[in-house]
Amino acid sequence: MCAKLEKQDTDKITYEGLLQGNKDWVAETLKEDPTFFARLSAGQAPPVLWIGCSDSRVPANQITNTMPGDIFVHRNIANVVTHTDMNLLSVLDYSVNVLKVKHIIVCGHYGCGGVNAALGDKQVGLIDNWLRNIKDVIRMHDREMQTIKDPVKRSNRLVELNAIEGAANVMSTSIVQNAWASGQELAVHAWVYSLETGLIKDLQVSASGPEDISPVFKMQAQK
Ligand SMILES: [Zn+2]
Repeated sequence: MCAKLEKQDTDKITYEGLLQGNKDWVAETLKEDPTFFARLSAGQAPPVLWIGCSDSRVPANQITNTMPGDIFVHRNIANVVTHTDMNLLSVLDYSVNVLKVKHIIVCGHYGCGGVNAALGDKQVGLIDNWLRNIKDVIRMHDREMQTIKDPVKRSNRLVELNAIEGAANVMSTSIVQNAWASGQELAVHAWVYSLETGLIKDLQVSASGPEDISPVFKMQAQK
């Protein structure tokens, strides 16, 4: 028997249904843990900052089997990390200097629409300017990318390279380097999530100090 795979049926998701869903979730959660909301409302101390794609299929908490309060989250299309993004820099600064997270994870995902759009030459709209950052990743790794002819493999490799470059961009910020210089425990990682298997691949480029990054990006400690 060959079952034809179809996209998830989202027609049943309604505006009213979301509010009812919230009520149901609160009731179920309180049944299991009557102090859940009282405890969470007292404050947050998440040990992890997640920088991921906005894709609806890659929710940080569900795929890592964690709970509200466990992960501080920033998401944008194709998990791009640039040094002029005030939104991302504000999240990074707050999570490192106020929340004192111990891990920052840049997580891409195979089959990323943003990455695939960056591989092509069709105009999509305003987002083309955002995806230019991923075209820079292609240019930086041009030699390797040119050796990969299969379109799916090209896309998959670019997803990995984009997560690796994103993590490298996090590592080279003054925010992360100053945290390391002050002796703060902080590691930066790059991951990729598979929509097909649900599994995460650690790309093994983690850094937990300035010795792990390219000398070009090293900064002197602030006096
Ligand atoms: Zn994506």
